[in-house]
Amino acid sequence: MIRDNLCAVEENISAACDRSGRARGDVKLIAVSKTKPVEMLKEAYDLGCRDFGENKVQELIDKYDKMPSDVRWHMIGHLQRNKVKYIVDKVYMIHSVDSLRLAEEISKEAVKKNVTVSVLVEVNVAKEESKFGTDAEETVSLVEEIAKLPNIVVKGLMTIAPYVEDSEENRLYFAKLKQIYVDIIHKNIDNICMEELSMGMTGDYEVAIEEGATYIRVGTGIFGERQYTIV
Ligand SMILES: *Cc1c(COP(=O)(O)O)cnc(C)c1O
Repeated sequence: MIRDNLCAVEENISAACDRSGRARGDVKLIAVSKTKPVEMLKEAYDLGCRDFGENKVQELIDKYDKMPSDVRWHMIGHLQRNKVKYIVDKVYMIHSVDSLRLAEEISKEAVKKNVTVSVLVEVNVAKEESKFGTDAEETVSLVEEIAKLPNIVVKGLMTIAPYVEDSEENRLYFAKLKQIYVDIIHKNIDNICMEELSMGMTGDYEVAIEEGATYIRVGTGIFGERQYTIV
């Protein structure tokens, strides 16, 4: 199943790249494996996946120990400050930095462990009440503040678009994130290298690619529907 799903996603990515005149190599696929057993991750790994996305610290740590060391782990979920210390030397990138306090904690723990952590600033472009993320208007100043901290580097921006039936409805949000990104590039802030736009999930990654995504985060489209057990 994973093989067929990955093939289909790959075809869609290539088609979206063609439509928008982008190179396939400019878009990186993150296999979002939250709630899925390690066996499924290994299957995806054997099919070539190296970027995996998780949204819970404990689950990421558990899987980290069981997967090959060349996996690039992306923390894509809301991160509590008291848990930063567990993942700071394990993650390739943290996509969900939405406050200076969280960035300060990441910086502090990164200094302790002598690593440099790449992060994306999460922006709530659609202004959804239920979502985390900084307001669009505050993004530039947050990026400027984080840029002053040691051992943390802002690599770009991330957004989680609303759940919609028709992915076209999210096009304006992806375009808005791209615009903020371009504005920041033009400011030439020291110690930031805006190069990544993490946007697009199973329902809307093709539109996100057309609007400039460099990372797309696909879970259901690769691993199938998630089942959440109530504990
Ligand atoms: C779960 C999740 C995804 C993947 O969602 P799908 O719709 O299953 O592709 C992407 N990004 C974030 C932040 C997520 O939490």
